[in-house]
Amino acid sequence: HEAKQHRAGFHRYREEQRQDVAARLSLLGDLRRALDDPDQLTLNYQPKVTVGGGELVGVEALARWNHPERGPISPDEFIPVLEVTNLMHRFTERVLTIALRQARAWLDAGHRVPIAVNISARSLLDPDFPGRVAALLAETGVPGGLLSIEVTEYALMSDPDTAIEALDRLRAAGVKASIDDYGTGYSSMTYLKILPIAELKIDRSFVLDIAENNSSRALVASTVELGHRLGLTVVAEGVEDAAAVEALREIGCDTAQGYHFAKPMTAGALTEQLSHTLQTA
Ligand code: C2E
Ligand code: MG
Ligand code: MG
Ligand code: MG
Repeated sequence: HEAKQHRAGFHRYREEQRQDVAARLSLLGDLRRALDDPDQLTLNYQPKVTVGGGELVGVEALARWNHPERGPISPDEFIPVLEVTNLMHRFTERVLTIALRQARAWLDAGHRVPIAVNISARSLLDPDFPGRVAALLAETGVPGGLLSIEVTEYALMSDPDTAIEALDRLRAAGVKASIDDYGTGYSSMTYLKILPIAELKIDRSFVLDIAENNSSRALVASTVELGHRLGLTVVAEGVEDAAAVEALREIGCDTAQGYHFAKPMTAGALTEQLSHTLQTA
């Protein structure tokens, strides 16, 4: 009887796995089509601002997928599916193309807006990646200094030699790199010493409760100090309220991002904000 139950459980497990694989495959098929459809795959832009005055210092491009039947699907759901296939390269190419065309459009309208693009491990470690970035910069005529990439500690540390080579080649084109979700990976002093990076983005899990939680405050304060001593910009992500802003100001953190300042928005909405700032400036 027990063995029978066991078997039933096993079959159920196998059935769930089969469904999971089938769901991933159908998502991949849908993604492949989405890559050619400008209505499905778009970018939102979230301002990075100064902690002191809330002035715009740049934007982070965040992918948005509007599935024709299922509606919006979060990047946290589809990025991991892409990451295990070579379709990731086409996705990254698409995201960079949209972002750089937008940077070009803003330049043509008189706005210099630095754009940060999230780059997955698979793309960063692709030997063609730095060359593709340089080609897209040339094609759009956007100065490399207006582009930066956000990579996770995992992407940097899974193959540090290749990652460093890629970051060096990008830097030669003027493109800077940030470590995203800093503090959640295998933060190691050795890597901070050798990686050619310009910015640390402190993960929002340390920022959300910074005003109430002494451990979060201590961790953020020492990361800001460490980053500054290494000559890096430090950005706090996930700033949701005025209390967090006040804590960051006391600590001396330069830059922040979060719903308190601005949510990710369409290029059109950001353009409107840019023209307001210009009018009042
Ligand atoms: P991330 O790069 O760490 O981006 C920050 C995420 O936090 C974004 O979620 C953003 O919308 C959200 N966020 C911003 N401010 C706040 C806040 O104040 N509170 C809270 N709770 N959340 C906030 P989103 O857009 O859903 O993206 C999730 C993740 O998906 C990103 O995390 C990034 O790792 C990945 N991702 C997004 N777009 C791309 C892309 O084009 N390429 C790659 N490779 N990954 C991407
Ligand atoms: Mg990011
Ligand atoms: Mg992040
Ligand atoms: Mg994240």
